[in-house]
Parts: sequence; C-alpha cells; structure tokens
Amino acid sequence: MSANGAATTTIYLDHGATSWPKPPGVAEAMTRAVTELGGNPGRGAYRMAVDTSRAIHRARTDVAAFLGVPDARDLTFQPGCTQAMNLVLRGLMRPGDRVVACSMEHNAVARPLNALAAAGVEVVVVEADEAGVIDVDAVEDAMRSQTTKAVVCQHAGNVTGAIQPVADLADVAHAHGALALVDGAQAGGHLPVDIKTLGVDAWACSGHKGLLGPQGIGLLYLSPACQPDELVTGGSGSGASEEPLQPAVRPDRYEAGTPNTPGILGLHAAVTWLRDNGEALRAHEAALVRRFHEGVLSLPGFRVLGPDLGVPRVPIIALTHERVATDRLAFALDRRYGIATRAGLHCAPWAHRTLGTLQTGALRFGLGYGNTEADVDAALEALAELGEELA
Ligand code: PLP
Repeated sequence: MSANGAATTTIYLDHGATSWPKPPGVAEAMTRAVTELGGNPGRGAYRMAVDTSRAIHRARTDVAAFLGVPDARDLTFQPGCTQAMNLVLRGLMRPGDRVVACSMEHNAVARPLNALAAAGVEVVVVEADEAGVIDVDAVEDAMRSQTTKAVVCQHAGNVTGAIQPVADLADVAHAHGALALVDGAQAGGHLPVDIKTLGVDAWACSGHKGLLGPQGIGLLYLSPACQPDELVTGGSGSGASEEPLQPAVRPDRYEAGTPNTPGILGLHAAVTWLRDNGEALRAHEAALVRRFHEGVLSLPGFRVLGPDLGVPRVPIIALTHERVATDRLAFALDRRYGIATRAGLHCAPWAHRTLGTLQTGALRFGLGYGNTEADVDAALEALAELGEELA
C-alpha cells in the first residue's frame, strides 16, 4: 500500500502495451552499452567504436536468425513498430496507388493510411469478422478488380489477440502482383515467427513487447522486392560521406544517424533469452490465457472480445461489462488490487469499430513473461468482486 492507501502495482497485466519485467541479461547488456561500448558504431577506427559496431553486427545476425530472415542485411533496427510501419507505407505509396488493409489495424498503420488517403492513395479497408479475424477470400475479392500495390495487415490483434492468416494473405498479395506488409507488433515473441515461411515482404515489430527488449527499439524486415524510399537521410557510418544521397546499401539505407546502441544490445539479450526459453514461455502464456478466458466466461455480465475459447490467440484478453464502464474497472483494479491493465481504445479505433466497441472501449489484459496462475486468479477474483459491486 502507498501512503494514500492505494495498492502499489503488484500484478502487471499490461504486456500488450509493453512487457515488464525484462528477462535476465537485458539490463546488463544495456549497462554494458553505456559503460563499456561507448564508441559511435561505424564512426571511428578506434577500438571502442569498432567493438560497438561488432556488437551491433552480432545483434543483427542473431535477431535475423531468430526470426528466420535469410539475409541479416534486410533486417534494420528502427525506433519501434510505429516508425517501421510509417517507413514502409509512406516510403512505398504514391498518389494513384491502391492499398488493401484490414479493419483491425492499429493507429501505427491506420494513421499513415489516413494521411496517404488524403494525399491521393486509394485505401480499401476489408472488414474482419466478429472475432477480429480477416478473411483471405475477402482480401482476394478486394484485389480482383484493380491493380493493387500492397496488402497490409497485422500479424496478431492488439485488442482481440486474434492471429491473422498472414502467410495466406502474402500468397494472395503475390498472386496479384502486390507486396505483403505485416505489422508484427503483437506477434514477436508470442508466436514462433519464421519470415522465410511467412513469405511476407515487410514485417515490422516492437522490441519492447513480446520480444522482451527495452522501449525505443524495434525491427523492420524488408524483402529484396520491397524497396520503400527512406524517410530519413543523414550519416550512415558506411564511409562514402562525400556521396550526396543516402547509400542504397542495406541496412545503412534505412538506419540514418547514430543508432540506439543500448536498445539494440538490450533487444539482443532479450532475443537470446527467448531463443532458449521462448517455446516454454509460449506454452505458459497459452495456458494462462486459456485459464483467464475460461474464468471470465464464468463471470456474469462480462463479454470477451475476439476468438472463442480454445482458438489459439496471443496472450491478450479484452473484455467489456454490460453495466460497468471499463475505465472504472481499470481504475479500481489498479487502486484496490494493484493490478495494471489498460482500458479505452488501445490506439485501435478501427478495431473497436469492427467489434462494436468504439463507444465503450474495452478493458485489456495482456499476459506474458513473469505472470503466474496466481496473477490470473487474483485478476479473476477482483473482476468478480468489482462486477458485483460496481454494477
Ligand atoms: N501495432 C500494434 C498492433 C500494436 O499493438 C502497437 C503497440 O501498441 C504498435 C503497432 C506500435 O508499436 P510501437 O510501440 O513499437 O511503436
């Protein structure tokens, strides 16, 4: 309890926003980046700068291997998934182009698309079903009539936890000569991701969610066929400073300026941990999300958004109550029980419109690393009490 009688956060269930705590090695790697590897990578021939460059190279190689990226140079470090999706969409789309999107997109995709639409790009939004899953045939239908440059879809939903059929969407996109662009923010770490098998042209991810790295770092894979214009130009660290334009070589083309070395090394440590422990963690998350889902279904007045019980999902459960506003629930969960959750629209108004919750929002529980069955049971008990008391 804090001095004013409110509970302090003891149960962290907001992994959908950002994961916490981080696995062993992450903080240590970041500390090493600022205490030992202080040189600017690629910007000096002295030992410290060279060591920093090597550490980043190792991080890129290992993270690429973890994600099944065939050529590590196609994997760039970005400040986050938002920046990465902006790079892809704004870098590719030109007035007169056509893009097909899914109605569950986060604002990291929806807002760039809205801006592009205002600039003359035709944006066609395909409605997902009531569970928040996109229908491959509906996407195919949307592409049949006209030339389309790209299909863009999330890999997993940040409101529903639904897993989208991204490999099939990539096949459809390619059959129509379009690129397949994927927002993987909620998939990385929570699902086994193999870029080769998915066959997508762009896959962006946050470093700080399921990948268990620090905030301020993210990833973008671009296939050789996907060549967006770079949005930022400047120092590349790759020599040839006299060249007037950004070098075309990857990864330099998409990584102008001094990189986030502490973030990259922290992410590297997180991915190294996931490589050894990710499968067990995913099984644990699946068991926890099932336990929670089942528990909520037995509570009167609550409705769980997204796929039915038993259908695989990433460890997110968002719910509504027929009489209690979800922000009241989130507030009481925090103040009385020390349980951190997120109410509202989760930066995903398109998704909430699709699910019929644009006016009410929802209360989202994101499970992940560090959570236990006891956390789930405590959240269920708290919901049961609040559901009765506040209704
Ligand atoms: N896309 C989805 C589906 C998300 O859930 C989020 C984060 O909430 C983002 C994109 C934005 O990611 P980042 O915080 O790395 O910019």
